Amino acid sequence: MSSPNHRLEPYAVEARCFGSMSGALRVGHDGLVTFANEWAHVFFGSACVGKRMEDLWNESEKAGHVSSGTVGSLTAALSAKRPQHLFDTRDGRAIMLSTDWLPDDAMLLTLTDVTFVVRTTVSQQRDVLTGLANRLALLGKLADIAHMSTSAALLYVDLDRFKVVNDTLGHPVGDALLKLVAERILRLLGPHDLLARVGGDEFVILQIKGEQPQAAEALARKAIEIVGRTYLVHGHSVQVGASVGIALVAADGNSPDELIKSADLALFKAKSSGRGTFRFFTDAMDREIQARRALEIDLRRALAMKEFSLVYQPQFEIEGKLLVGFEALIRWSTPDRGSVSPAIFIPLAEEIGLIDALGEWVLRTACKDAAGWTAPLSISVNLSPLQFKNPKLVETILSALAASGLAPSLLDLEITEGALIDNTDVVVTMLRQLKELGVKVSIDDFGTGYSSLSYLQKFPFDKIKIDQSFIRSMESSHDSAAIVRAVTALGRSLGMTTIAEGVETDAQLQQIAVEGCRQVQGYLTGRPLSGADAAALVERQS
Ligand code: C2E
Ligand code: MG
Ligand code: MG
Repeated sequence: MSSPNHRLEPYAVEARCFGSMSGALRVGHDGLVTFANEWAHVFFGSACVGKRMEDLWNESEKAGHVSSGTVGSLTAALSAKRPQHLFDTRDGRAIMLSTDWLPDDAMLLTLTDVTFVVRTTVSQQRDVLTGLANRLALLGKLADIAHMSTSAALLYVDLDRFKVVNDTLGHPVGDALLKLVAERILRLLGPHDLLARVGGDEFVILQIKGEQPQAAEALARKAIEIVGRTYLVHGHSVQVGASVGIALVAADGNSPDELIKSADLALFKAKSSGRGTFRFFTDAMDREIQARRALEIDLRRALAMKEFSLVYQPQFEIEGKLLVGFEALIRWSTPDRGSVSPAIFIPLAEEIGLIDALGEWVLRTACKDAAGWTAPLSISVNLSPLQFKNPKLVETILSALAASGLAPSLLDLEITEGALIDNTDVVVTMLRQLKELGVKVSIDDFGTGYSSLSYLQKFPFDKIKIDQSFIRSMESSHDSAAIVRAVTALGRSLGMTTIAEGVETDAQLQQIAVEGCRQVQGYLTGRPLSGADAAALVERQS
């Protein structure tokens, strides 16, 4: 690949003196060379002393020893009294010319071969696989343009489905694919633009020229289109997609780091809105991030101060309207925020690594409360899939049971299909250990995952919780009713209890009963209650 993007200008290189690798010339005020060492003679290919310096350079350029244009830029550097100037020779060496002005207006010129230094500097700024600029080079270039009032744009390009290709067809195919992607994107770029690879399947385009934001949008569209075309790699026909996040220089953050972060955030938005698309960074995204950070701070504090509470939603056997247990649901409210939904703060706690501590608090509190009830009713506790990443989970559950004195058979763990997606074997092993101890396991939000049925085979769940979305649409949709019917039939034949979530009306209750559902949980039969109210309800019922 020989695009101009690859030509990193090694301005940063320091001239180093490598002893015998230096040429020295003394040039009198009349421009005539009065002294030249052996190296200089070899460099110019002729005797130097007595000649005009200018002629030596011109001959050298004419003979093709130095690249054309060198003399012009050297003359400019010297007349501007710049002390150092870097140029290259036709045979690929990098030469640093250093000039000292002596008191008698003579000049001392030192020529140093800095090829080695230049090469290593350049290679530190190159991505080895594709030969593109790397993050370091990108940061350097961004710092350069930060001083100019340009309308540049930063396009963060991330491949969709690359991991699948890499995992299924192997790394050599993945590597070859990345090179082809780089080549395709390069075809779209102008001579001033820069393409860098900044991560496994992440590229950044620095678009220097063009009317923004139109130019960036056009480039993003083209990149998505061209990257998405089929590749032929090592005999395999391969397809990947691209998502693009765009930040405009000057408008969207000043420091190179900020710019990259903004583009990365926009990329995240592009990905979460379905991939194969692009998004511009907006102030709203920034505000969202700030709000998230504030929420994160509050959440950490709340955990330290134990500002959470649990409410308990009753679960009934439909036949006989018998209270069988409760589901523990976490609550959090602050004076400023009011009550924050667990649907918001649980995912955040998962993301910032607080879910283990939070989950443990829920377990211990729920077990303790349930152990205090006057009748042996079951208590359902939600477990986040991430809690299974902690090898101590089983130990923690045992400890909560032991500390509260609750019978293991009264504890019912609600897990979603998400818990079984990764490391299925590890999770199933943990679940089996718990089951051997007598703990019950339910599958929550059933039917909302990708391949719900296959998960029923992986572990003998005690209970299937049919997701609220099916219950809600049951009356209007024959499909939902059919799904509820099929799930209850399946549960029956597998020996699993079925419970309908989110039942709000009499009609829904009647219909789930007809479809064969055994239990119910919803606003109709009972809203979540405080710990005291739940205990009172147990007492009344028993
Ligand atoms: P989930 O486990 O499916 O819990 C049921 C949710 O449905 C609860 O919302 C409950 O209040 C709500 N609900 C119950 N009956 C009805 C009804 O008739 N109509 C409607 N519209 N909603 C009903 P909540 O408490 O906001 O919890 C939302 C989700 O947050 C839970 O879904 C669960 O995934 C998660 N969550 C709650 N507490 C915990 C917890 O302690 N640990 C973990 N890991 N997740 C929790
Ligand atoms: Mg649940
Ligand atoms: Mg649920």
